[in-house]
Amino acid sequence: MSGINTLEKTQIGALYSQSYTANMAVLATGILTYIFFYFSIQANYIDWFFLTLCIAIITRVTLTFYINRCDKKYLKAFANAYVIASLIIGLDFSILSLTYYDLKEFDLRFFLIIVHVGLITSAIVTLSVWMQAYLAFTLPQLISLILIFSINGNISAVLITAIFSGFILIVAKRFNTNFKDGRVLIEKNSQLITNMEEEIVRRKTAQLELEEHKNKLEDIIYERTCELKKINENLVEQMRIREETEKKLEYLAYYDDLTELPNRSLFIENLKKALSLAKRKESLLGVLFVDLDRFKNINDSHGHYIGDGVLKNVADRLREILRDSDTIARNGGDEFVILMENMKDVREPYVVANKIIELLNTKFNVEGHDIHIGASVGIAMYPLDGDNALDLLKMSDTAMYEAKKIGRNNFQFYSSSMSNQIADRLKMENALREALDKNEFFLVYQPQVNLITQKTVGFEALLRWNNYEFGFVSPAEFIPILEETGLIYQVGEWIILEALNFITSGKSKGKKVSINLSPLQCSINNYAAQIKKIIEKTGVDATLVEFEITESLLINDFSQTEMFLSDISKLGCTIALDDFGTGYTSFSYLTKLPIDIIKIDRSLVTSIETNRELQNIVRAIITMSENLNIENVFEGVETESELEKIAQLNGKIIQGYLFSRPLEESKISEWFKLCEENAAKYKTQ
Ligand code: C2E
Ligand code: MG
Ligand code: MG
Repeated sequence: MSGINTLEKTQIGALYSQSYTANMAVLATGILTYIFFYFSIQANYIDWFFLTLCIAIITRVTLTFYINRCDKKYLKAFANAYVIASLIIGLDFSILSLTYYDLKEFDLRFFLIIVHVGLITSAIVTLSVWMQAYLAFTLPQLISLILIFSINGNISAVLITAIFSGFILIVAKRFNTNFKDGRVLIEKNSQLITNMEEEIVRRKTAQLELEEHKNKLEDIIYERTCELKKINENLVEQMRIREETEKKLEYLAYYDDLTELPNRSLFIENLKKALSLAKRKESLLGVLFVDLDRFKNINDSHGHYIGDGVLKNVADRLREILRDSDTIARNGGDEFVILMENMKDVREPYVVANKIIELLNTKFNVEGHDIHIGASVGIAMYPLDGDNALDLLKMSDTAMYEAKKIGRNNFQFYSSSMSNQIADRLKMENALREALDKNEFFLVYQPQVNLITQKTVGFEALLRWNNYEFGFVSPAEFIPILEETGLIYQVGEWIILEALNFITSGKSKGKKVSINLSPLQCSINNYAAQIKKIIEKTGVDATLVEFEITESLLINDFSQTEMFLSDISKLGCTIALDDFGTGYTSFSYLTKLPIDIIKIDRSLVTSIETNRELQNIVRAIITMSENLNIENVFEGVETESELEKIAQLNGKIIQGYLFSRPLEESKISEWFKLCEENAAKYKTQ
C-alpha cells in the first residue's frame, strides 16, 4: 500500500468527495430504471439488478464514511475498493442492457441508451479524477452498447458508439489531467502560500526581533545618553575646577598667598615695564631689597605661625609708607623688594630706606607676642647701576648683604665690588653644608689660668674649620654663616658632644671646659632638655661643663633666656657671659640671671696698661662682679704688661696667647707637662 504520492492522495480525496453526488445519481438512475422496467415489462432480472446496485452503492457510501477515519496508508486500498464498486455498478447496468438486447420497444431501448450515456457523461465529473474508477465504470457500459449494436447489426450505431467512446475517454482523460494539473497548481500555490506565510512569519519574527533590538538599542542609547550626560556634567565640573585652579595658579604665579603682595615674577615683569618707560622718559628708578634681620630666630623660637604673622605685619607696614606709584613685592622667605618709579632725586631711596628700617625696628605684636626684628636694605638704581631688571634686582640683593655685614638695621647702595664677595660667601655656605659630613670641623681648647696659683682652671672649646678650598677659616667669618643658614643647630650639637667626650676622655684632667653657645641655639624650645640628654648620654660630670652665652641673648627675649639659663644651672653646669664690655649689657641682668662668670672682652684688655679710663672701667667691673659673687676671666691677654695691670686690678683668671694659643686635643698633655715643669721651676727659684 506504499508508494502513494500527494497527488494521488488528493485524487482519491476528490473521488470520495464526489461519492455522494455519484451515488445519488446512480441511485436515482437505478430507481428510475427499476420503475421503468418494472412497470413496462415486469422483468424478473430487474430485482437482481437493483439489489446488486444497492449493495454497490452501500459499499461506496460505507467506504466514503470510513475513509476519513482510517489510516492514510490504506488510501490506495480504498481507491481500489471504490474502483471495484464502480465496476460492479458499471457491470450491473451493462448486464441489464445486454440481458434486454433484443427489446423491441423503442422507448425502453432509447431509455437504456440515455441511461448509459447519462451515466458515462456524468461520471466524467464524479469519477474521472481517478481514471481506473472511470474506466471500471464506463468501459463495461461502452462495450455492452457496442455489443448490443453489433448483435443487432446496426453498424453505424456501433461506429457512433465507438467514436463516442473514444471522445468520452479523451474528455475524461482530459478532465483527469486538468484535475491533476489543477491539483499540482493548487499544491504549488499552497506551497507558495505556505512559503509566503512562513515568510510572513519570518518577517514578523524578524520585525519583532528588530523591534526588540530597536528597544534594546533605545535602552542602550538612553543609558549612553545618561552616561554622556554624566560625563558632560563631570566635564563641566572639571572645567569649572580647572578654570578655578588656573585662576588660582595664575594668582599663585604672580602673587604671594601669605602677604597678598605681588611675587618675584610679577615684580620682575613690572620692573621690566618700568625700565622701558624710564628709558623713554629718561627718569630715575630705584630697586630696594629688604631682608628681615634674624627672622629665622623668630620662626625657631615662636614657630612658623607667628613667623607668618610677622611677615604679614611687615607687608602691611611697608604698604603704609610707600607711594601708590611704588610697587612692593615679596621676593621669597623674609625678603621684600620695592620698585620706586618716577624718582626726581637719587636721595629718594635713601629716605625710603631709612623709613623702612625705622618702621621695621619698632616692635610687632603678633598674637600677644612682642617681637623685635630689624631690616637690612640694599639699593640699586637705574641708570646709575644698570639698565636690566634682573641685574638691578641682583645688585640690590648684593647691596643688602653688604648692609647686613656692616651691622644689621642698616642700608647700603650698590657698588660693583660687592658681587665677588657674595659669590665667595655662597661658595663658603655650600662648603659648610658638607663640612660636618666631611669631618672638616674640630675643636681646639684654650687654657684658662688662675693668675695667683698659676694653675690651669679650665679650657675654652673653640671651633675650627679646615676646608680644602678655603683652608683655615676664622670662626668670626664662618660662624655667622652657620647661624644664617641654620647649620648652627646641627654643628652646635656636635660641638657639645665633642667637648663632653673630651672631658670624659680624661684629657682635661678634671678641669672644666667652656662651650660657646650661639643665641640661636639658646632660643630652641626646651634646649636645656636636649643638653641634659647629651650630658646623661656621655655620663660627664655636669659641674665640669660651662656654657658661654653672649649679651645679644639677653636683649632678645629675657624671660625665655632666664628660663633656659636657670634650667642649665639646675643641671649643675656653670654659665659665663662672653665678650663682656662690648655691648650695652646692663649690670642689672647679672643680678637677675644665674651667671657665674663674666669674660671680659679683649677690647678692654688691649692697651689697659696705658689707658686710665679703661683701667677705671675694668676696676669697676671687677668690684661689681666680686660683690655679686661672679668670677672674672680676662680674654685675649697677650703681653706681660697687660697681665701685670690685670693683676694689679685684682683680675683672677687669664685666657690669652700669653699663656697659650688654643690647643689641639693632642697637645693638651704637653700643656699639662709644661705647667708641671714651670711649677717646679717656680718652687726651686
Ligand atoms: P670668643 O668666644 O670670645 O673666643 C675667644 C676668641 O679670642 C677666640 O677666637 C680665641 O682664639 C681668641 N683669643 C684668645 N686669646 C687671644 C689673644 O691673646 N689674642 C687674640 N687676638 N685673640 C685671642 P676664635 O677662636 O677665632 O673665635 C672667635 C669667636 O668665634 C669666639 O669668640 C666665639 O664667639 C666664636 N666661636 C668660636 N668657637 C665657637 C663655638 O664652638 N661655638 C660658637 N657658638 N661660637 C664659637
Ligand atoms: Mg667664648
Ligand atoms: Mg669672647
